[in-house]
Amino acid sequence: MSRAPNETWKLGAAALAARVRDGRVSVTDAVESGWVGPASMWEHDVNAVAHHDAEVRREAAAGASGQGPLAGVPVLVKDNLCTVEYPTTCASRILAGYRAPYDATVIRRLREAGAVIVGKGNMDEFAMGSSNEYSAYGPTRNPFDLSRVPGGSSGGPAAAVAYGLVPVALGSDTGGSVRQPASFCGVYGLKPTYGRLSRYGLVAFGSSLDQVGIFARHARDVAVTYAVLAGEDGYDATTRLGPAPDVSTFAAGVKGLRFGWPANLWAQGVDAAIVAALERSAIALERAGAVRVVLDFLPGTYGVAAYYLVATAEASSNLARFDGVRYGFRHEEAADVRAMYTRTRSEGFGPEVQRRILLGTYALSSGYYDAYYLKAQRARTRIRREFQSAFAQCDFMLLPAAPSLAFKVGEKTDDPLAMYLSDVFTIGANLAGIPGLTVPAGRTSENLPVGVQMLGPEDSEPNLLRAARALEVGGDVALLSTDEDPEFVWPTKR
Ligand code: GLN
Repeated sequence: MSRAPNETWKLGAAALAARVRDGRVSVTDAVESGWVGPASMWEHDVNAVAHHDAEVRREAAAGASGQGPLAGVPVLVKDNLCTVEYPTTCASRILAGYRAPYDATVIRRLREAGAVIVGKGNMDEFAMGSSNEYSAYGPTRNPFDLSRVPGGSSGGPAAAVAYGLVPVALGSDTGGSVRQPASFCGVYGLKPTYGRLSRYGLVAFGSSLDQVGIFARHARDVAVTYAVLAGEDGYDATTRLGPAPDVSTFAAGVKGLRFGWPANLWAQGVDAAIVAALERSAIALERAGAVRVVLDFLPGTYGVAAYYLVATAEASSNLARFDGVRYGFRHEEAADVRAMYTRTRSEGFGPEVQRRILLGTYALSSGYYDAYYLKAQRARTRIRREFQSAFAQCDFMLLPAAPSLAFKVGEKTDDPLAMYLSDVFTIGANLAGIPGLTVPAGRTSENLPVGVQMLGPEDSEPNLLRAARALEVGGDVALLSTDEDPEFVWPTKR
């Protein structure tokens, strides 16, 4: 087997696919590049991968067509997306050893586009968490500072893209689980409009909130991957009908686009490095011809409460199927079926998942349904309207992805409420069904990533990607359509 050229692992997905299509790089070298070169020394410390298999990976590479928009591109997918060749366990004991008999629709579309699935990404158990510390496989660490978390719940996929294992990864975003880890790991993270990407084969957490999301190191790669994945699916009745919006315009610039600037949102409690990054990003967008519109927009106050009622209510129902009968783990020492359920669920689910099931069951109980669940649904409608009226004044808005930079491992595990509050800027998009995109926005003096977020109305992905590309080139319109991706600033080993 020929050795992969040393720099192959650094390439973005579109750049790599172009080399594979014209024969400069073989599919095998493309797929192996993250596993043999400088990137391979990270995994031991970072723990981004939950399942992989070198033999399966090599066979998949040998069988791949070498054609398509993602020809030869290795992709890591979160462990809650069904894949036939790897286990699908949601990083939970209760699904230990479970193998899905089918591929998720997004997985099938990746393969059809020439990509090779190289394994499953570590995650918070059942996608519940914001730090990747609630995993049956142990925490994932942030490659930019191993004493810090990568964010969650899609922390494994985010970290793998950041250290160079793969140029693209898939996660899921129910309340921010793609956008928040993207921000902590210095990469792009897109949560599409609800229903644009099929949820068929995504293990359900909060079905009315869940969307599959995309991580990449370059704006172009988010656009290319979105174009491959987006579109209606007969297997998911909640997918939107008709063609997905065209994101091939990502390099068209932002001239004349209006971006909302809800400055009162981050008047309190947001890290100064993030506030500075927002200001720098706004100036870059203006330099590229976009127009800043100051917005009076403060939806955050009841969003977190509404989210943690709706999400837990849906989770309590979705997770009822894990009972020791149908999938994965079953507790063997039980006298009767009721004891079997109880012992399986008590030992199979971790403490955060049990907390969510209890919260959700309580919110749905007949005595409290009106007080909690119904009220949360009303709040949800109101949040949706607030976004609609904000987007009457602008094409998208700029805001933090999270209130803080990556925090320390262990810092919030004893305080669930503090953990929940790290979602304050992301959950609105899930409640409203609108798209959101995290964009890297520089580093601190310690090389810790700083990210910002953009939110737009339904199907505004083309505008979000135009803005992301404009920010990627620092607002310099002359660079918008160059084929070369700007150099990613890699983590350094300490
Ligand atoms: N951190 C949020 C939660 O714990 C969001 C999770 C997600 O988006 N999957 O629910």
